[in-house]
Amino acid sequence: MLDLPDEINYTLDRLYDSGYEAYLVGGAVRDMLMHKPAHDYDITTSAIPSEVERVFSSHRVVETGIRHGTVTVIVNGTPVEITSFRRESAYSDGRHPDSVTFSKDVRDDLCRRDLTINAVAYSKQKGYVDLFGGISDIENRIIRCVGSPDERFAEDHLRLLRAMRFSSVLGFTIEEQTKQSIHRNKKYIQTVSYERVFSELCKLLCGENAKQILLEYSDVIFLLIPELAVQHGCEREYGDGGYDLYTHTVNCISYTEPLLHLRLAALLHDTVKPSGANAADTVRIRDTVAANVLTRLRCSAALTDTVCRIIRYCDADINGIDKVGVKRFASKAGIKTAKDVIKLKRADILSEDPRYYSRLNDLNTALDVICEAEENGVALNVRDLAVNGGDIISLGVKRGPLVGELLRYALDGVISGEVCNERGPLLEFIAAHIKVK
Ligand code: ATP
Ligand code: MG
Repeated sequence: MLDLPDEINYTLDRLYDSGYEAYLVGGAVRDMLMHKPAHDYDITTSAIPSEVERVFSSHRVVETGIRHGTVTVIVNGTPVEITSFRRESAYSDGRHPDSVTFSKDVRDDLCRRDLTINAVAYSKQKGYVDLFGGISDIENRIIRCVGSPDERFAEDHLRLLRAMRFSSVLGFTIEEQTKQSIHRNKKYIQTVSYERVFSELCKLLCGENAKQILLEYSDVIFLLIPELAVQHGCEREYGDGGYDLYTHTVNCISYTEPLLHLRLAALLHDTVKPSGANAADTVRIRDTVAANVLTRLRCSAALTDTVCRIIRYCDADINGIDKVGVKRFASKAGIKTAKDVIKLKRADILSEDPRYYSRLNDLNTALDVICEAEENGVALNVRDLAVNGGDIISLGVKRGPLVGELLRYALDGVISGEVCNERGPLLEFIAAHIKVK
């Protein structure tokens, strides 16, 4: 007997006691078979939605997607999703079934699911229902479509990316027929909405097996992000010729922590160097390319901004600079961006020739300097200064850009240790500078 949360036990029991079949299905069963804590529980039942509502009439019930058979019941403050057994008709839009009919047989419901590992049902009374060998695929760590992969991908094109995502996240191998079918049918992916693509891509990027999937399915990735296709076969500028720029990018991703903003920055940090462009132009072009890709994929404005900031500063030269230089860099980029840039640079070096590993020391020192400054509340932003714009104006300076310039001058004085961050000394420091000017 599986150890289930109280509200799930209660929901399953209520349905069963009312004469309906009720199963757990999908991710929760998969997770439990992998001895991992489940994070969301999907219940499927022989009761049609109106019957579910009747069984739970004393509870708050939300008609989440009633046409598709999904009802959410609030049990002890926790929402529990219940979906009626469904049979699906043909798919003519490549994403949704044309119609859905309810069924009394759990087997119909399992047939419509994408992957064998997601198509195992569990009932407290009847145990597992495993029509497609999902349990053995979980044990053997295999991603396999339910039935014919060509047919399943033709019905719903998103499944192609879901197979890749589950392989990346779970570290499972995609079975040969499913794998060939993904390559054969990759063009389908271009018809799926960017929102859905991006949501799968984000999970894929943060998966433990991301490197292998990004390399093995680079053809799919290039259809989604054509800007990366130019890296394919492209020799790296300082590389040893052993692998191309795309492989370098993927290696770099694999050396970053599985945090979405860092992985997206790694993915887009090295879009090809346009011939003849100087360093500043190159950074600007990469920043623009990254912003275009992320905007097209409907990434949020805040995340796009975070990623582009990292890319904008990732060419900054941190090697060999002293503590003051590191603090100046953190002040310019912002502490959070500066730390992320160092993490990306670290990944970049780790994915290079070990000859360059000695550069890691400088990066680790720089990270320590920034963390120490942060912990000690060292001023790295004009907002952290013990004086403000009003104080500068009271020194006789006119409102305008000079005020900001003087605050930045004072900040640099604090960063370089020329003056301490206290009001009196700062005002003197600024006044002396005004006199000289
Ligand atoms: P997780 O929530 O960890 O991403 P999950 O398996 O619960 O994994 P969901 O996207 O929540 O995935 O979907 C729940 C279940 O619904 C899946 O396990 C699968 O059985 C089925 N499913 C979801 N999307 C599809 C699809 N596009 N085609 C077929 N079946 C699907
Ligand atoms: Mg789920």
